[in-house]
Amino acid sequence: MKFVSHMDRALAEARAAAARGETPVGAVVVAPGGRVLAADGNRVRERADPTAHAEMLALRAAAVALGSERLTDCDLYVTLEPCPMCAGAISLARIRRLYYGAEDPKTGGVAHGARVFSHRQCHHVPEVYDGISAAESADLLRDFFAMRRNAT
Ligand SMILES: [Zn+2]
Repeated sequence: MKFVSHMDRALAEARAAAARGETPVGAVVVAPGGRVLAADGNRVRERADPTAHAEMLALRAAAVALGSERLTDCDLYVTLEPCPMCAGAISLARIRRLYYGAEDPKTGGVAHGARVFSHRQCHHVPEVYDGISAAESADLLRDFFAMRRNAT
């Protein structure tokens, strides 16, 4: 089967998040056959919900769409390295492959910090592919924070 990246869709969700004044991060959950089950961006401020990260929203919506708490053989695309909370949720959801864009040394929990998937207590470890459209993802974040700094 031909590999089709859904990172462009995740980047579109990240841009939409920035337009809403949210940290520009976007996520997409794709079913085994390649169908997009869910896509969303950060909505932490909009919902006044510290857990409303793009990955959490996309995982929840995909689980509802499938009628199952397990997203077996589904893949997740996210523009930024997931934080520890989202990495935990990715494991619980049994995501098959995690594709992410920019690395996040500050709050990431996959290649940095908690390194959630590297612990024995993590019972499902996805295949991880990093650096997918990393430059575009990082540019979005940099521009967003530069704009915010200039606004204050
Ligand atoms: Zn997160």
